This record gives sequence, C-alpha cells and structure tokens, in this order.
Amino acid sequence: MPAELPALPYDYSALEPYIDEQTMRIHHDKHHAAYVKKYNAAVEGTPFAEKDVLDGLKDLGSVPEDIRMAVRNNGGGVVNHSLFWEVMSPDGGEPSGALLEAINAAFGSLDAMKEQFNNAAATQFGSGWAWLCVQDGKLVVCKTPNQDRPENNGCGTPILCLDVWEHAYYLKYQNRRPDYINAFWNVVNWKKVAELFAAATSPAG
Ligand code: MN
Repeated sequence: MPAELPALPYDYSALEPYIDEQTMRIHHDKHHAAYVKKYNAAVEGTPFAEKDVLDGLKDLGSVPEDIRMAVRNNGGGVVNHSLFWEVMSPDGGEPSGALLEAINAAFGSLDAMKEQFNNAAATQFGSGWAWLCVQDGKLVVCKTPNQDRPENNGCGTPILCLDVWEHAYYLKYQNRRPDYINAFWNVVNWKKVAELFAAATSPAG
C-alpha cells in the first residue's frame, strides 16, 4: 500500500509560540506531503510499493539502484517527519521512570543529554536531523545529514528526533538555529518518547 501523509496529532498552532503555525502548515502540508508523493512515485510498480517504507530504508542495498536514492531521500522524509510530529506535543510532560533512569545512566543527567543533543543539532552542517536512539539497549545521541536514518549510521532505533532543515525553523528563527533547538524542549512529547523507549528495549523490540 502506498505511503500516506498522517494528519498532525494536534492543531497547526498547538506548538506556538515555540514552533509557529505557518511553519507547521508549510512543513506538514507541503514538505512532508511532497516526500510522500515523490516516494510513492519512485516505488510505483515495484515490490517496494507493497512494503513498509522502513523495510526499504533499513536495507537500502535491496532497493534497485535506479530508485535507491529516491527511496533513501523521500522514504526517509516520509518516516522521519511522521516520527517528528509524534514526538512533539503541547502537553508532553517530563521524562520519568525507566526512560529517565536510562538517560541518567547514559549521560549523567537530563541536562547533559539535552546538551549533547543540542550540540548534535547545532553542528549538523546543512540539512539533517538530530536523534536520541536506543543502541544495544543503551541511549545514544547522533546526527544524520539530509533525510538519512540513524539505523543506517550505526545509531540504533530512534525515540526522539529534531528536524534541523532550514524549512523547519527559518520563518520564525531565521539564522538562529540554536534558539529553535532550545525552544524544541518545550514541546517534546515525553509520553511518546517513553513509549518508543519501552518498545525499543522490550525483548521483542
Ligand atoms: Mn522537514
């Protein structure tokens, strides 16, 4: 079945003032929609049209060479944005329980994790993403260029991500990417991150 554009799990204005309504509208309705459309066009008539987008992304070598780059870029754009919308919320709470314990174990403190994540997001040269991932049962921070996935960069399974393409922040923050990164922590959906952490660290996951 073709990739689909998920509806935002909240209003376009829900993340104001940290992420503005106009940015959310253009980001979701135009940018994310375009990745979905281009991905579906690339895989149409191939076995990948029937598969989960992540199947091809996790095994890019299995994707025919003539569509591999389109799958990597547009398929990545499809799933990365779907995760991004879900790990944000106007009412996301704070990390606790097993997730907070794992953060403290890996980084020393929540603030230390944020500092490492902020650094990854700020130093990703050009377009890309910052990630918090579960790698071999442990939390790690990493960054990837373009729409590349952490699984393809030895970083494990993502449970939190931040889009640092200019389209994600330029209308409100212009060149001030660090301000956007700091604002992001006000809208992290820690309940969802905790769910993803539990799934990624369960025996079945
Ligand atoms: Mn984006």
